[in-house]
Amino acid sequence: MNRATEILNNVFGYSAFRPPQDQIIETVVTGGDALVLMPTGGGKSLCYQIPALARAGCGVVISPLIALMQDQVSALKLLGVKASFLNSTLDPATARQVEEDLLAGELDLLYIAPERLTQERTLQMLERSPISLFAIDEAHCVSQWGHDFRADYLQLSLLHQRFSQIPRIALTATADARTRGEIITRLDLGEAAQFIAGFDRPNIRYRIALKHNAKQQLLRFLKEEHPGDAGIVYCLSRKKTEDVAFYLQQQGFNALPYHAGLSGAVRADYQARFLREEAVIMVATIAFGMGIDKPDVRFVAHLDMPKTVEAYYQETGRAGRDGEPADAWMIYGLQDVIKLRQMMESSEGSEEHKRAEQQRLNAMLGLCEITTCRRQALLNYFGENLSESCGNCDSCLEPVDTWDGTEAARMALSAVYRTGQRFGVAHLVDVLRGAESDKVFQFDHQHLPTYGVGKDLDNNQWRSVFRQLVARGYLSVDLERFGALRLEEKCRPLLRGEEQIQLRRDSARKSAAKRQTRTPLPVDIDVALWEALRDCRRELAEQQGVPPYVIFHDRTLQEMCTILPQSLSQFGRITGVGERKLEKYGQTFLQVIEDHLAA
Ligand code: ADP
Ligand code: ZN
Repeated sequence: MNRATEILNNVFGYSAFRPPQDQIIETVVTGGDALVLMPTGGGKSLCYQIPALARAGCGVVISPLIALMQDQVSALKLLGVKASFLNSTLDPATARQVEEDLLAGELDLLYIAPERLTQERTLQMLERSPISLFAIDEAHCVSQWGHDFRADYLQLSLLHQRFSQIPRIALTATADARTRGEIITRLDLGEAAQFIAGFDRPNIRYRIALKHNAKQQLLRFLKEEHPGDAGIVYCLSRKKTEDVAFYLQQQGFNALPYHAGLSGAVRADYQARFLREEAVIMVATIAFGMGIDKPDVRFVAHLDMPKTVEAYYQETGRAGRDGEPADAWMIYGLQDVIKLRQMMESSEGSEEHKRAEQQRLNAMLGLCEITTCRRQALLNYFGENLSESCGNCDSCLEPVDTWDGTEAARMALSAVYRTGQRFGVAHLVDVLRGAESDKVFQFDHQHLPTYGVGKDLDNNQWRSVFRQLVARGYLSVDLERFGALRLEEKCRPLLRGEEQIQLRRDSARKSAAKRQTRTPLPVDIDVALWEALRDCRRELAEQQGVPPYVIFHDRTLQEMCTILPQSLSQFGRITGVGERKLEKYGQTFLQVIEDHLAA
């Protein structure tokens, strides 16, 4: 284990393992198989990179993310690790060279695409090469039920058959037990030690607010909290991504649209810009998903609600992989609830399937409407227990008021009933508030007993009541009549006065002063030095054709600002500075710091 710690310090420049990294590494170094479930950003890569360096031979990493291999390999090379990759993007001569290096035992790590690995020719080559381990990254790709299924992954059980002496480590960030079971059976990992890390992402701050003017709310969020940061904005439709990206461009942001309707070349180009340039905002549909391995995504904003908690967690999980503070910010409103409910009802599939989808949507709505800690609810959904509220979600930071909505809910339900369950929210609110609209007179609704009984609440308050009733399943949305609300069985006890209901009080727009804003940098940091270090990093990154974070993470630059190293030995103690980077960049960055201090 000393050897592993030495590699951690000297090669990667980190001082300590994040448990259970140490146990996993020990298992694999001593020749055992391992199954690793760790959240995004948990630090899975070191779990196979360090054993590959500690054991004799080359570690073979199977990954479906071809677009990332180049960057992963460049990053390792900068650390002094002998790494290469084999995939369809290589020309034959280069590929041959890689193969020769492998056979000659000159590689520490080889990244390979699954379709390449399973070719007989490759397998024979591997049999003749010194191999230290096989790492199967994104192991959930064996699951036929998941979104990321890869047929080639099914064949990976052959590793066990043909290389029975070589340890295997399978890794994924997908949480659920069914997928885990599938990985074990399909990859023949029955004997493997299992390491299941907690799924909490403490550095992500969860916030879900009410939507009133999506674009302006987004703009304000970006301006006040994330100027100069990279992030992702998720929208439901292709058109909306283009629309929002254009709007942000006009407001001076470096924003790009991303969806499945763009050509492959455009998408590849935008993805590369997102990785290589700083402060790019990707406005995307869920087509922008797996393979976003950018560690310094500072926010994920949802302008539309995802359909499930799983999707929400996966999408928000793309923020803050580097462990630094990051925001998961979402706005939603009555229209989202209505739209998603309708989409579910009209979806293809059996009744059973629809019911399951409805339940998953209900869980997502529940998360939006909850008045207690969001993180507790999220983790609870994945079967984990967080004993105390987190202090880093909107419910914890600005506790939500509730009010006794029993009377209001009864009025609302009765308005639905009396008008024949044929009308949408706008008209129902008019009836409750006694509005003198054309539609009221057209249907003679001014004579109903519910007409005008709800003058105490304003328009927004009534919409809030209806939203919560739909979200909690008291009302359903009629497909035949767009947006018409209908009573559900669940209403009865409430209407009969046998049940009370507590509703969330939607706060008015919060004043900027009251809101907890996150400054992107520690307050006491010297901004001029920070910018100078970032410039230096950008130049080096451009020269070497790698993304800036491959040179140094933000965290490392921040430490430079606070520690102000004046010598190479001081510089070497900074997190993320290993031997190779010290040698390569130490002097350059020390010079920037010295110039700054002298100025
Ligand atoms: P995952 O693959 O699980 O999403 P990564 O392997 O990319 O996560 O690691 C996430 C980030 O955490 C990376 O920037 C990595 O360098 C950093 N990291 C991992 N382990 C440690 C550690 N023991 N100490 C400090 N930083 C670490
Ligand atoms: Zn909380």
